[in-house]
Amino acid sequence: MDAVPHPLKAQVKELNFYYGSVWALKDITLGIAERRVTALIGPSGCGKTTYLRCFNRMHDLYPGNRYEGEIVLYPDGVNIISLEVDPIEVRMRIGMVFQKPNPFPKSIYEKVERALQGAALWGEVKDRLHEPAFTLSGGQQQRLCIARALATDPEILLFDEPTSALDPIATGRIEELIMALKDRVTIITVTHNMQQAARVSDFTAFMYLGELIEFDRTDKLFTNPSNRLTEEYITGRFG
Ligand code: ADP
Ligand code: MG
Repeated sequence: MDAVPHPLKAQVKELNFYYGSVWALKDITLGIAERRVTALIGPSGCGKTTYLRCFNRMHDLYPGNRYEGEIVLYPDGVNIISLEVDPIEVRMRIGMVFQKPNPFPKSIYEKVERALQGAALWGEVKDRLHEPAFTLSGGQQQRLCIARALATDPEILLFDEPTSALDPIATGRIEELIMALKDRVTIITVTHNMQQAARVSDFTAFMYLGELIEFDRTDKLFTNPSNRLTEEYITGRFG
């Protein structure tokens, strides 16, 4: 089930995660294909955000949180959740875009042209670079946050429900951007919108109650799932 017929950017091995006594991720093993989009789907509370946040060591910011297992990053083979690895270094290599746009209270000018072009935003903001970032529309703010995440040239970009606060047109532009970005960066995106997962991703992982239930090529998982729970979820019987 974890065989991805594609070069891997990362291999998650028997990953467990605990918020104190809450066992939130259970023995997850999963390969992340290089320069492809991997989507995580599953009902609210199944552990999607928890899983994503392991990848840039966000959980380190709170006491009592504990990782077990490995997330091995290639080509160097370093286990990025090892406590011997500096989380700051990990965050340089693995960028994150959040559910709600969270621009810094700085001018647009401070987000460099190259990054803005990378996020397909340069044309829209080049004449207003000194304006506050909060004057942009929600969709533009989210693309600005993608530009910021691209500024360190990350190897992996994590998206946590990036369009949940956006209208359908702004959502479409973010989806196009995600698909275009995979030429240069490996992408993991969390969504509870199954149509979005089907549109943008190459591989999909279905999670339930902290476990990985099924992982496959997106077209296979949505048309011919192997697991009964996956089938019930994608056909809308729960979730
Ligand atoms: P999802 O993103 O799929 O909605 P989450 O990763 O946010 O799910 O949550 C997974 C599980 O971990 C849920 O049962 C949630 O209640 C629990 N959880 C999330 N954050 C915390 C926390 N800071 N402390 C304790 N439990 C948490
Ligand atoms: Mg979440």
